[in-house]
Amino acid sequence: MAITQTRTAHLQAIDAAHHIHPFCDPKSLAERGTRVITKADGCYVEDSDGNRILDGMAGLWCVNVGYGRQELVDVAARQMEELPFYNSFFQSSTPSQIALAERLSKITPGDLNHFFFANSGSEANDTVIRMARHYWHLKGKPEKYKFIGRHLGYHGSTLAATSLGGMKHMHDMGSSTLPGFEHIMEPHWFAHGGNLSPEQFALRAAQALEDKILEIGADNIAAFIGEPIQGAGGVISPPPGYWPEIERICRKHDILFVSDEVICGFGRLGEWFGCQYYGVQPDIMPMAKGMSSGYLPISAVAFSDRIFETLNEGGPISHGYTYSGHPVSCAVAHANIDIIEREGLVERVRNDIGPYLQSGLAHLYERHSIIGEVRGAQALAGLQLVRSRDTREPFAAEDNAAMICRDICLEKGLIMRAVGQAMVICPPLTITHAEIDEMIDKADAGLREAA
Ligand code: PLP
Repeated sequence: MAITQTRTAHLQAIDAAHHIHPFCDPKSLAERGTRVITKADGCYVEDSDGNRILDGMAGLWCVNVGYGRQELVDVAARQMEELPFYNSFFQSSTPSQIALAERLSKITPGDLNHFFFANSGSEANDTVIRMARHYWHLKGKPEKYKFIGRHLGYHGSTLAATSLGGMKHMHDMGSSTLPGFEHIMEPHWFAHGGNLSPEQFALRAAQALEDKILEIGADNIAAFIGEPIQGAGGVISPPPGYWPEIERICRKHDILFVSDEVICGFGRLGEWFGCQYYGVQPDIMPMAKGMSSGYLPISAVAFSDRIFETLNEGGPISHGYTYSGHPVSCAVAHANIDIIEREGLVERVRNDIGPYLQSGLAHLYERHSIIGEVRGAQALAGLQLVRSRDTREPFAAEDNAAMICRDICLEKGLIMRAVGQAMVICPPLTITHAEIDEMIDKADAGLREAA
């Protein structure tokens, strides 16, 4: 044990000296020491001290098929041997790109049949911005270039994706916003609903989109973007009726409707894509994360037939990344989709582990008055921690209730994430009932100690 701890301390010291972490306060991390994760299998990760931890976050909302899939390792190795890299620029393709594009067209809803590949959700959303603006140029309406997103929406961390998202702390870091991006209220009934019923509030929150359109003029707006459930914003799930109303407003004002499926795609909500869970049909759909279950970086943007027809007639597309459609990532993503399909993970979420997880969370709600609201759907959930459930009085930021709860859970061997004053959960879709029971028991103990 002493030797392991020495090794951990050594790694932590080097990490603090040389590694700048994303979304992290470097000084406090250095004081605390980074947790070094060394291996993973199924739904568990292991750290350098040998602790086995149940991963309630599927890595970073992405390891949908769980860890340790030898099949994906073998596919990657074969593809590396055959063709480790060739880019798709300049009139060439590779078999794994072609196969993946066709495979995706079979699982995406409606006429979303055309795919542009990138490497991350952020790049996918930069692609959305450039392509949507290009589309309107080609339609003879170049003034339609603005985007409407939502407060607490997250669409990535590049400059354009940061602007598209509605995270104030990101906008504030180094004045990181571009012009041409507007935001409307997030459809969070518990926070903003007041005396309205969830259904009434859904219409009110959707009306914010129409109000914004009228304020800036539909002629100036390219698209509206939203995550089916806002993940990084704290798993904000809209009340019933919200999405159909948003879709109706987009159609009425001739604004492209973009569903950011980076978290909700690939089975998370018991459908292949989150928009299907809410019964709406986007024009453009960025996806990443669960696309390869995080085994390799890859993302894609799906475009409808209508948009593609215009792009197709519009001359050169001056956009792309060196690793767009990396052959190894494409092969792994294809094999990952095969696993999701073969093991029936989408149906499993819908009929089994989604309801099972949600009933476990309902049990926590009954036991802990510190939980104001359980949100989310199926295999994506958030627990809002509050001072008072009855008055919905929130904790003050400095109370750090969620962070305290997260740290206690981690000590007990469970990874949950704290977002503001919410605890969020997004496990691998392969999680068993016994593992969900373990998660609920550990969260139960964590909540009891944090209260
Ligand atoms: N869109 C959504 C909905 C996300 O949740 C994320 C990341 O969490 C992104 C985009 C950005 O993806 P990436 O971190 O791969 O750039």
